[in-house]
Amino acid sequence: MDYVFTPPIRPSLPVVGSEARFPVRRVYCVGRNYRAHAAEMGMPEDADPFFFTKPADAVFVPQGPVPYPAATASLHHEVELLVALGRGGRNIAAGEAASHVYGYAVGIDLTRRDLQHQARDLGRPWDMAKGFTSAGPCTPIRPAADCFPHGVNGGIRLAVNDDVRQDGLLEDMILGIGEILAELSRYDRLAAGDLVFTGSPAGVGELHPGDDVWAAIDTVGTLEFQVSD
Ligand code: MN
Repeated sequence: MDYVFTPPIRPSLPVVGSEARFPVRRVYCVGRNYRAHAAEMGMPEDADPFFFTKPADAVFVPQGPVPYPAATASLHHEVELLVALGRGGRNIAAGEAASHVYGYAVGIDLTRRDLQHQARDLGRPWDMAKGFTSAGPCTPIRPAADCFPHGVNGGIRLAVNDDVRQDGLLEDMILGIGEILAELSRYDRLAAGDLVFTGSPAGVGELHPGDDVWAAIDTVGTLEFQVSD
């Protein structure tokens, strides 16, 4: 049998104000990085945040409707600040983290909540809940110099059909950007091209086919799409 292999092309994301694209290496995610979200998930508010991953090609800038995935009756939205790394390393000092950040984007950690809870209850991994195709819609990456003139803070919001569901503050993250990169780089050598979903504020909930989704972080970007039938 003849096999035809396509050349190795990395997934990539557009960059605001540039023809360049950001080549995605790995996608790390922080779980339960806002106390109010941990509480709404039935977890103690003082539980430590933790890490998981999504496939690199699950993150994309929507060019049209975002597909409602198979095998779920409970697709949830989690709006999050995405950090794009321009430089990697091991054991990064929290105070040095800013020099590793290439830019930021607004992302949604789409989650098949029913499969996640099933995995939790059975002691299974989360991949099928968090890593499906199209599980990470996001805005183009905005270079860090154009974001957050007064530090990483301010509103992070998501609305469904003009109804505001998530309305949080980045300063309420348990681990800030520096602490996230410091902690993550204790586990693994980070590299240019890595993305980090930094956790969702409270207010996560279901999406349904036909819903209009709007998500925004001041100075970073606005993401809008419809969930397809
Ligand atoms: Mn999340």
